[in-house]
Amino acid sequence: MDREQGTLYLVATPIGNLEDITYRAVRILSEVDLIAAEDTRHSLKLLNHLQIKKPLISYHDNNRLSRAGELVARLKKGECIALVSDAGMPAISDPGEELVRMCAQENIRVTVVPGCNAALAGLVVSGLSTQRFAFEGFLPHKRSDRIKRLKELSNEERTLIFYEGPHRILNMLADILEVFGERQCALARELTKLHEEVMRGNLSELLSKFEARPPRGEFVIIVEGNNGEDKEESPDLSQLSTEELVRHYEEQGLSRMEAMKQAARDLGISKRDVYRSLL
Ligand code: SAM
Repeated sequence: MDREQGTLYLVATPIGNLEDITYRAVRILSEVDLIAAEDTRHSLKLLNHLQIKKPLISYHDNNRLSRAGELVARLKKGECIALVSDAGMPAISDPGEELVRMCAQENIRVTVVPGCNAALAGLVVSGLSTQRFAFEGFLPHKRSDRIKRLKELSNEERTLIFYEGPHRILNMLADILEVFGERQCALARELTKLHEEVMRGNLSELLSKFEARPPRGEFVIIVEGNNGEDKEESPDLSQLSTEELVRHYEEQGLSRMEAMKQAARDLGISKRDVYRSLL
């Protein structure tokens, strides 16, 4: 390995089945000086399975900013470091992004050892269009933020990919149904593991399946993009009458007063004039 300046290797690890690791990943993990892992105890199990003995250092959400500086300093001194997460590709809904950015800024070589990724694994078994897709990862936990994000996504034509664990998936599906309306969906559960299952159907069917049998395990949720059937046409606001403009903003969720204020701004008239024309 290059001793002048080290290399950061982003090494994908299995998302369940331990056989899903590449020859190159095994070689790199056994050659580097140090392995930075999201959870060292978790990664130790994989390393033991692969019979690899290497120093491990934790690199997780809570220490990623301070630890990144330390790792960059070691890379500069010539150490080679592999970054692994608990499962799949580091830096995809997992720590890594900042470390890579810092290495790029410092001109440190970063290379990827590709492999498993739950999002792509879920997409390809979903039966939904793989032509164009958008990865959204985890939706916000807070309901109001989640609804806001879903509204932003409701006109998205590409297939949408989300991550979620078993505890929030019911609420998440109910919110997707409420905001998007009925859509085709696939729930790819426990991929590559013993209880792997792909549930396909429309959102209400999948929700009612969960009522009979509560969700278990890790999920990739793949939702059909907006195929145009219920796509909202954005009206040409300049063609609307004052009354129509106010109604438009009310339908967007503004109060009557806020809608009138916004209409006044759009029309370049006073709020009083808007009020008068509504009488
Ligand atoms: N970095 C990982 C990757 O490349 O896929 C993703 C890590 S993210 C913290 C974990 C989420 O990925 C889980 O909550 C679940 O949504 C999804 N996931 C991971 N393993 C999975 C599996 N075997 N089957 C289904 N979903 C999985």
